[in-house]
Amino acid sequence: MRKQTIDENRRCPKCGRTENQINGGYNRSGTQRCVCEFCNHKYTLNGKTREYPDEVKQQAMKTYYSGVSGRGVGKLMGIGKGTVYDWIKKND
Ligand SMILES: [Zn+2]
Repeated sequence: MRKQTIDENRRCPKCGRTENQINGGYNRSGTQRCVCEFCNHKYTLNGKTREYPDEVKQQAMKTYYSGVSGRGVGKLMGIGKGTVYDWIKKND
């Protein structure tokens, strides 16, 4: 018997289910990919909705203020650049 896994952060964008969203590896930029076991839809976890720990945020801001662009910070740390720009905006 398979264990049911429910992760609120993983919702199939196609059928909207949160149950049995399994890991489908990582794409080239290191984003977690998920596969919906119900409709077999493959999708990546959206960086914008993902929560990052404070240390990651602080490190990202430090890197940004040392002269790296928002996009560069995102690339370096594997964070969506939308998220990085969000943090920069909130920090101003
Ligand atoms: Zn689905």
